[in-house]
Amino acid sequence: MPTLHNLGFPRIGRRRELKFALESWWKGNTDTSTLDAVAADVRASMRNAQQGLDHVPVGDFSFYDQVLDTSLLVGNIPPRFRDLPGDTRDTYFRMARGRTAGDTHPAPASEMTKWFNTNYHYIVPEFDADSRFALNADTLLAQIDEARQAGATPKPVVLGPVSYLWLGKSFDDSDRLAHLPALLAVYKTLLERLADAGADWVQIDEPALVMDLEPAWHDAFRSTYAALADTAPKLLLTTYFGPLGDNLALAVDLPVAGIHLDAVTAHDEVQPLIHALPADRVISLGVIDGRNIWKADLTVLLDWLEPIAATLGERLWLAPSCSLLHVPVDLAQEDKLDPEIRDWMAFAVQKLEELRLVGRALAEGRDAVADALADNARALAARRSSARVHKPAVADRLAAIRPEDGDRDSDYTTRAELQQKRLQLPSLPTTTIGSFPQTAAIRHARRDHRAGRISDEIYRQAMREEIRSCIRTQEAIGLDVLVHGEPERNDMVEYFGELLDGYTFTRFGWVQSYGSRCVKPPILFGDIERPKPMTVEWATYAQSLTDKPVKGMLTGPVTILNWSFVRDDQPRSDTCQQLALAMRDEVRDLAAAGINIIQIDEAALREGLPLRHADWPHYLDWAIRAFRITANGVDDAVQIHTHMCYSEFNDIIADIANMDADVITIETSRSHMELLDAFKTFEYPNAIGPGVYDIHSPNVPSQAEIVALMRKAGERIPTERLWVNPDCGLKTRGWAEVKPALENMVAAARTLRAPVPA
Ligand code: GLN
Ligand code: ZN
Repeated sequence: MPTLHNLGFPRIGRRRELKFALESWWKGNTDTSTLDAVAADVRASMRNAQQGLDHVPVGDFSFYDQVLDTSLLVGNIPPRFRDLPGDTRDTYFRMARGRTAGDTHPAPASEMTKWFNTNYHYIVPEFDADSRFALNADTLLAQIDEARQAGATPKPVVLGPVSYLWLGKSFDDSDRLAHLPALLAVYKTLLERLADAGADWVQIDEPALVMDLEPAWHDAFRSTYAALADTAPKLLLTTYFGPLGDNLALAVDLPVAGIHLDAVTAHDEVQPLIHALPADRVISLGVIDGRNIWKADLTVLLDWLEPIAATLGERLWLAPSCSLLHVPVDLAQEDKLDPEIRDWMAFAVQKLEELRLVGRALAEGRDAVADALADNARALAARRSSARVHKPAVADRLAAIRPEDGDRDSDYTTRAELQQKRLQLPSLPTTTIGSFPQTAAIRHARRDHRAGRISDEIYRQAMREEIRSCIRTQEAIGLDVLVHGEPERNDMVEYFGELLDGYTFTRFGWVQSYGSRCVKPPILFGDIERPKPMTVEWATYAQSLTDKPVKGMLTGPVTILNWSFVRDDQPRSDTCQQLALAMRDEVRDLAAAGINIIQIDEAALREGLPLRHADWPHYLDWAIRAFRITANGVDDAVQIHTHMCYSEFNDIIADIANMDADVITIETSRSHMELLDAFKTFEYPNAIGPGVYDIHSPNVPSQAEIVALMRKAGERIPTERLWVNPDCGLKTRGWAEVKPALENMVAAARTLRAPVPA
């Protein structure tokens, strides 16, 4: 009979209770005991959802981030946060967000970065030569106590010391690994304390084991687990998000009591692991996908697991593949979802039900859960054969894609000439990235329309009014290439998802992105079709108001894919191609309607890069092909732009160039153009707009600052191929900053264009 457990549960609350409690506490509207009461309720409901498991994780609850929790647990507090007024909680939130409730002593927050290949962001641990550590286990111990009193068998979860160092950053170029001995001393004490608190097992997360690791990190794993080998609680070395690959032998060698493997992404490693692992070790298999919202195929799973369970007996543990932090809490709340599609889905609560079912089938035989298995089989069969998922017309189109569909007719130089003839742009043309401030009036109009409080026609008029005023303002500022301003879009992916067939949306499908911030990814469940044009009306209306060129504005297929929950019944690359074909139709319709410049945003292309470098070429190959299919169905005189909200291109610059967009706009202003270093060694062939206005800050850049940035960019890229634009869209800013900033930008471009006096 396998042991059932869970690695972590969503902690924001079924209705995002923790989010609202935090935000209210930060504003000073509630007191600390109210916040703590909400947190305790959330933890109780987390435990409640995990009833019946043999071990329930404790330590997966967090007020902000589990990596930040670890920094406090081991006492790794950067100097600028020490000696400020307040208690540990105040320190915690200052590290997370630069300030605590009602703060008169703010301090620059720690950096935040993406947690492996998820859309969750963690607070980066900071190290320098003076880093010191001291155990502070009170919070964790109190939660263990709380769980035990509630009748659960707590399994403390801690981030392992090697991954903790690996995820951190050294701020003085000192070697992070130099801190390992001091850190290990703290972990040793921690494990002793956990043993004293009655913990039999500790889940020690070492997700760094799925990454490419230098030999020094291998050594760190060896010395760490040798040092922790004789501690009292048994250690379950936990990995997720990918196969162990070349780290498998290392992991097997480590003297721990068991290993958890993500059996979804590392399915093929299960047998090698079973063979390699000594017979006294536990094997925990993560068999329920913790990264998507689909029901598992329990029959297929049992066919596979039954012989494994027979071989391993008591040594087999079962769990979801990773923490359920990355899926929404409970499907039962989704009363508005189409019942047909809902029947194919499972959120965190349902995934644990699946786990219990598998456990029971293995322990008592499939007959014991025959009805539930039949239900599951019926739902999956319905999904497999649903005409809403599988559309022959889409399959036919996919099969008919020809290689040349991804190519323009001519090379960049020829195209650039044709485009210039048509567009007559000055040198150093000025433009923006698409969105303009989303005022309260715009948001209200969208909300009222959605709720049916205003008619389609009134809504349409309101949007046209916005577009008109946006065009007038851009003309007054003197920009060269205008945009309609995107007032109709709440979100750059959701907008298109709602207009494409094959997508559905939840009411409460929130997933934590960072801190109290959550996203509600749209759900791509079926073959993608575009029933009708999605942006042509707005773009042509904008163009009808001005003689300046208006740039059409689309989201690219890779970004739509990477920011959605996508189907798991076909390769992501196929889904991406379907999105590409739909967006290609939109590009062609825009061009046919007289829009001569079209921007296709690929904000999330980089974040889709696989964890292992060896897998990069395959991803880049299909992702860039999808972009090219989207973009390149138009004639040479149409100018294609793309935009990316980052500029770390050093490692993928050749692939970016291979997208063959006529113009690319990127983020650079914050780094003072230093990120253009990629362009030192690689000669980027097409035109480029390095952002000169940092839209993440309310500051208004001066004309002189912009001139200086552009001069710096001019050292890397010839003037003929430079554009002048902000870093990203302006939707989160106010007009009061945007107008002067853009005026300065236009003035800067004019200064740079003026002939140097002799
Ligand atoms: N066109 C989008 C906008 O301006 C781009 C946003 C993004 O890249 N994140 O809002
Ligand atoms: Zn951007």
